[in-house]
Amino acid sequence: MSLLTVGSVAFDALETPFGKTDKIIGGAATYITLSASYFTKENNLVAVVGGDFPQSMISLLEEHGVNTEGLEIIQDGKTFFWSGRYHEDMNTRDTLETQLNVMEHFDPIIPESYQTTKFLMLGNTVPATQKLVIERMANRPKLIMLDTMNLWMNIMLDDLKEVISMVDVVTINDEEARQLSGEYSLRKAAVKIMAMGPKTLIIKKGEHGALLFQGDRIFFAPALPLEEVFDPTGAGDTFAGGFIGYLASTDDISFENMKRAIIYGSAMASFCVEKFGSERLVNLTQEEINERVQQFVNLSSFEIN
Ligand code: AMP
Repeated sequence: MSLLTVGSVAFDALETPFGKTDKIIGGAATYITLSASYFTKENNLVAVVGGDFPQSMISLLEEHGVNTEGLEIIQDGKTFFWSGRYHEDMNTRDTLETQLNVMEHFDPIIPESYQTTKFLMLGNTVPATQKLVIERMANRPKLIMLDTMNLWMNIMLDDLKEVISMVDVVTINDEEARQLSGEYSLRKAAVKIMAMGPKTLIIKKGEHGALLFQGDRIFFAPALPLEEVFDPTGAGDTFAGGFIGYLASTDDISFENMKRAIIYGSAMASFCVEKFGSERLVNLTQEEINERVQQFVNLSSFEIN
């Protein structure tokens, strides 16, 4: 089944305890579509970049089967820019700078060929843009999933709550779940966030895995203890791309299948953090992915007599 992703396509500058980068390619939609490309062949993108964005990166997305018909290039504009610094634990980070640039007033046009897309991934971007994309789909997709971040909770909370009320699945990290709900307990936070509209909630806990909530059902997926973590940027988006890409490829949105999808998402995220930026996501093989998923199974399966 087909997937449509909207979200930032960006330049990032990162500082980790292992080093610093100057302006590398990033953005939520970049990570999501690359990750999903290993699962679904119909991978549509709606995003905006400035004239400063390299054509080589657009070609790379296309080589991964990403349809870039909905990628608008504003020739005299500047691409969204984000910079962040990771703490020693690599689990927490500070945003140093966010320049919305062309993303601030983006008017998302959904090409005719995307209109029948069954799965919609609203990656991190301006909440009003996420809402416009839903409104501009001729038919409501079978599943709409949304990712967001603390910035939008700080400056556009009403818009964010409105779009959250329109989606099926929300994926956020633990800190953001606490901020959005005002609850410290993630279980209480989940109840409050699901009461805002979405039936399903995923709370990502970085190196401590992810929780899947639906009604009163809970499932926990671990994160793989890796020997080397270079750069966690994009891990959440890569997770989301693997999760929704797997759901789209199986066309099954049951809770049982979401449990499998969360493992695929976690496996994809574990690759992402092994190198800077999206480098590790560019040439994965199906064998590597299957082997990694098996490691997740081995990590947490046990028998009790
Ligand atoms: P993640 O590490 O999965 O949370 O996502 C990191 C990506 O999010 C980076 O590549 C950034 O370009 C992008 N990003 C950071 N801040 C924002 C924002 N306010 N809106 C949209 N994308 C953002």
